[in-house]
Amino acid sequence: MKQKIPFLNLRVENTKKRKEISTAINKVLVHGRLINGPEVQELERRISIRCGKRYAIGVNSGTDALFLALKSLHIGAGDEVITTSLSWVATANAIALTGAKIIFADIRDDLNINPVSIEKLITRRTKAILPVHYTGKICDMSALLKIAGKYGLFIIEDASQAFDALYHGRKAGSFGILGCFSLNPMKVFAACGEAGIIVTDRKDIYERLMALRYNGTVNKELCIEPSLNGRLDTLQAAILLKRLSEVNRIIDTRRRIAKRYNYLLKDLVRVPEEKEGERNTYYTYTIQSAKRDALKSFLWSCGVETKIQHPYLMPQQPAFRHISKGNFPNAKQIVKKILCIPCNEKMTIRDVDYVAHCIRRFFNGGL
Ligand SMILES: *Cc1c(COP(=O)(O)O)cnc(C)c1O
Repeated sequence: MKQKIPFLNLRVENTKKRKEISTAINKVLVHGRLINGPEVQELERRISIRCGKRYAIGVNSGTDALFLALKSLHIGAGDEVITTSLSWVATANAIALTGAKIIFADIRDDLNINPVSIEKLITRRTKAILPVHYTGKICDMSALLKIAGKYGLFIIEDASQAFDALYHGRKAGSFGILGCFSLNPMKVFAACGEAGIIVTDRKDIYERLMALRYNGTVNKELCIEPSLNGRLDTLQAAILLKRLSEVNRIIDTRRRIAKRYNYLLKDLVRVPEEKEGERNTYYTYTIQSAKRDALKSFLWSCGVETKIQHPYLMPQQPAFRHISKGNFPNAKQIVKKILCIPCNEKMTIRDVDYVAHCIRRFFNGGL
């Protein structure tokens, strides 16, 4: 059934925008440098400036960004990495694939990692904390930086959902030794295919990442360490460069929608909060309700597509159940209540009001 309000529509319906993308693609086809073309370097340059970091390294997915970031710090077997229990499985996969042990921490009611739960999980094997800025809201970075400083741990940010989000004047991805982004088509700043990027201030790490993203080679010949081929396509970089100029407008629109939802829904469900000094980007607008499943079916019957991101905590996944270490009682409760309702730049105010109206009807007995 085609829903009246889809969760996300990835078609490029605007003719002008489609033309701009075609023009960008055409340029690449003409110069022919399909890998490592000038658009890749230009994108890296602009992202590094935008994040306030010295270097950016384009890669072919957010998953690769995380995996290569961990590898660049020589994290592997025998090490432990503490991360949140609620994220897309890519976060846990990246850690697992390095051979390091994943330690799952609990979350706060705002869905981000709870710094208080981290300290109890630190051992002498702990090397890094990998916080995820979930839904486009930056974690409590002042608390996390304090803990990392106290125990000498690296912070690697999974900022996949939070490109351009702010926390007291600082950008997502700029707090840790490394910041990782996915730029896949679902993200707020999105390619027309798989893409990702890593940012850092450290020259040595940057140089290591340049080798690690291409089979661990230097000068394209000598292999210094086994790795994968994780380079970013020039075509995707060209599209991303084009779309970079639209990011601010997209985020502003999402923020306006979120504000309106907050106003219309705050007495019915738990709505996302924005604290002083935060600029959340609303990769998802996630509400919490004890009646989540019934609400989801009701909204579907109204023509509103919603998503549960995610129905399973990472430590509850079959892939991680047997090795799961950690303590996450709050996450176990919250995962039953979360629901993402449509919140994107293609929606009109009428769409937003319709979704809110349907939620109101549900709580008022379907009237
Ligand atoms: C999207 C996402 C990823 C993975 O990115 P891909 O580009 O799909 O590999 C990792 N972590 C989080 C939090 C994400 O939302």
